Amino acid sequence: MSAYDPENIFAKILRGEIPSTQVYEDDETLAFMDIMPRVDGHLLVIPKTPCRNVLDASPAQLEAVIRTVQKLAQASKLAFEADGVTIQQFNEAAGGQEVFHLHFHVLPRHEGVAPRA
Ligand code: 5GP
Repeated sequence: MSAYDPENIFAKILRGEIPSTQVYEDDETLAFMDIMPRVDGHLLVIPKTPCRNVLDASPAQLEAVIRTVQKLAQASKLAFEADGVTIQQFNEAAGGQEVFHLHFHVLPRHEGVAPRA
């Protein structure tokens, strides 16, 4: 596994070097809207500290991120009057990861509505 690259796009969002639509922040985590949403309300949750993915994460990073994921999954289910919520997470290129800073996708879902590709 490669080392963490501080020039990845989410690190730049954390440093405020590129814009994002932020929806939640606490001491340890940040959440913002995905730039190419696959459903309305598709958001991403990241730790504020450097971490490539789950394979690389400390228990404290995982705990903080999953706490925020749960909070925002519950909130977005209500806000979007969703029937359910999909939580997705990818590790390394072979595992489908494109941005190499740990993140979880949170997608409010409605019966019979497939996410865009
Ligand atoms: P993954 O690494 O989980 O496969 O995908 C990365 C996700 O980050 C994609 O859903 C993509 O649309 C999103 N993404 C990539 N670049 C940006 C960006 O600059 N801003 C935001 N908000 N999302 C991004």
